[in-house]
Amino acid sequence: MTLRDMVSELKGVGDELSKTLLTVGVENIGQLVDYLPRKYEDYSHVTPIKSIKPGIVTVNAVIKQPVGRYVRRGMHITEAVASDDTGSVRLIWFNQPYRAASLKPGVAYYISGDFQLRRQRLSILNPSIELVSDFPVNTARIVPIYRETKALKSRSIRKLIRETVPLMRTLPETVPGWLVRQQKLISRAEAYEAMHFPESAGQLNEAKRRLGFEEVFQITLASLLNKREFDTEQSLTIPFKEDLAKDFVKHLPFNLTDDQRKTIWQIYLDMQKTQPMNRLVNGDVGSGKTVVAIMAALMVIRSGFQVALMAPTELLAQQHADTIHKLLHPLGMADRLSLLVGSLKPEQKKAAHERIQSGETSLIVGTHALIQEKVNMHNLGLVVIDEQHRFGVDQRTKLQAKAGHMPHVLSLTATPIPRSLALTLYGELDISVIAEKPPGRLPIKTKICSPNSRAQLYQAIEKQILDARQVFVVCPAISESNNLPIKSVELVYEQLTKQHFKHRKIALLHGKLSSDEKDKIMKQFLEHKYDILVTTTVIEVGVNVPTASVMLIENAERFGLAQIHQLRGRVGRSDHQGYCYLMMGSSSAPSSRLKAIENSDDGFELAEMDLDIRGPGAIYGTTQHGALDLRIAKLSDSKLIALARKAAQDFIDRGEDLLQYKELHEHVTRLRAITNLN
Ligand code: ADP
Ligand code: MG
Repeated sequence: MTLRDMVSELKGVGDELSKTLLTVGVENIGQLVDYLPRKYEDYSHVTPIKSIKPGIVTVNAVIKQPVGRYVRRGMHITEAVASDDTGSVRLIWFNQPYRAASLKPGVAYYISGDFQLRRQRLSILNPSIELVSDFPVNTARIVPIYRETKALKSRSIRKLIRETVPLMRTLPETVPGWLVRQQKLISRAEAYEAMHFPESAGQLNEAKRRLGFEEVFQITLASLLNKREFDTEQSLTIPFKEDLAKDFVKHLPFNLTDDQRKTIWQIYLDMQKTQPMNRLVNGDVGSGKTVVAIMAALMVIRSGFQVALMAPTELLAQQHADTIHKLLHPLGMADRLSLLVGSLKPEQKKAAHERIQSGETSLIVGTHALIQEKVNMHNLGLVVIDEQHRFGVDQRTKLQAKAGHMPHVLSLTATPIPRSLALTLYGELDISVIAEKPPGRLPIKTKICSPNSRAQLYQAIEKQILDARQVFVVCPAISESNNLPIKSVELVYEQLTKQHFKHRKIALLHGKLSSDEKDKIMKQFLEHKYDILVTTTVIEVGVNVPTASVMLIENAERFGLAQIHQLRGRVGRSDHQGYCYLMMGSSSAPSSRLKAIENSDDGFELAEMDLDIRGPGAIYGTTQHGALDLRIAKLSDSKLIALARKAAQDFIDRGEDLLQYKELHEHVTRLRAITNLN
């Protein structure tokens, strides 16, 4: 057996379990080994029964006859008594009727669980239990807790991963030997075993340190290598023409903010060089990134080169084209624009292609896919990528081959990326931050709501609809899962259409729809054919619906703060008041984390807050498999990060040849090619 074999090679893994594992992205054994615990429960202290105190406990005890089973208020309850030489303790399981059959009286078990007062008596509630052995997996140790689904519980994951231990021990080293020694790291194989089956808290820390180091080392190495390669690329020099910039600004219906000015100036400086610009503009939703991009484009067009602006969706491309058309019109440049989207008729597409190829079109606006696959640029000087963070090396190579040189690249993102994270994950990019918002915006009123105020909330929403406003309702899931008490778009859509808002027009949107369907629904919503849009976070990215005034987020506690902030930015985009309601899943008191968003309108501040608690994944929303991310290293561990970054620089300074390190080479090559974080 090898790590590349399918999980079905493992004992006890049939078709069904294989499918279940696939739902969490695990197909082969290597991926199973890489399915790292989310957290740990410390059951390692085995205590005599007479000394246990309320809280998490583990005992080594024998089950006594008889095991009781009964139903109370619709709940299956299983009860047993366990004893050791020092005393007895009651065990209670709720809704686990199968328990009784598996308990063998007279046999010694490790029993781990929460020792708590229940009906005036102390009992161990819902304990984990397994036969006493030298290698317990679920009890009497530090027990790993994995990301679970309804069909896949930590218990079964542990059992499977236990079987991979011999293979885990063959995991190849990825960090060069001299670094392993210099940094006193444990081996990669040891680290993985310790992550899944730690023998002590100290060993677990060593494992995290080792894997966190490796992670930052590889990411940094990838970006340093990218940077080194980009620095050898040749681009077109775009001279700065002051009159043109002034003329454009004169016709703007507003004054640029200082941050916008600073950013535009940085871009102009970049583009005057012979090396290609590689800049990320990071600015909160509504901070005015589009106009910055247009000013960059302007200079390039006037120098006689072409510009491609890529948006993630067709609708967004269309909105950009409209904006740009308006802004270029006073300069007599509006006819230099072509929109290239999938819904164009074949003859329109053909005409657009011809105009692009002949150079008649100077600015082409379209979706990422269309522009990259189909277009032959005449003389490409600048690529603007909206709502995407990074062009991978493979895409750069293609662009370069197409254009004959490397165009300048400008990425725009509304995802607030704290500086610490940007330095680690985006070392190869230059970053401009637009922190200040244009003056005079009404801050959105944000309110945390508990389920028992739902009726009032719906009244407030109805009032907005009567005022000709539109409403977003965002839910964390697409369909219902019996396991998790969370709202799905399907359920909420049904409830709203059948009950509370049956007199209103409601649309349903989620990521499983095709992009054509998504675009169509979004377009209709924009045309106000619906009052309410029930959706998942797919609407996070960019579209401007000026009449939308309410953002209702269900199970708000499940979202990252930065993500909520992004969603909130979808409403109140005109001069009337916007509202954001954060509906909690239960009526318990809101966390201080959630409360922070009621009081802060600063996306960067909120992102910083979330970063440490929930990791980078919380900022980008879904953690996509293979995305640039920190899974283990914590940004707050600045010492580890500094060491790993320095190690990557050392690796390069020593003139090391990456090809000498097969495993490292593989990892770094993958990281260099990652294109997106969304
Ligand atoms: P984002 O950064 O989210 O892409 P946009 O570029 O779409 O934001 O800008 C949001 C709105 O703010 C647009 O309607 C734009 O015209 C307006 N805007 C941009 N800059 C300014 C400014 N300096 N003053 C006032 N309004 C501005
Ligand atoms: Mg934008």
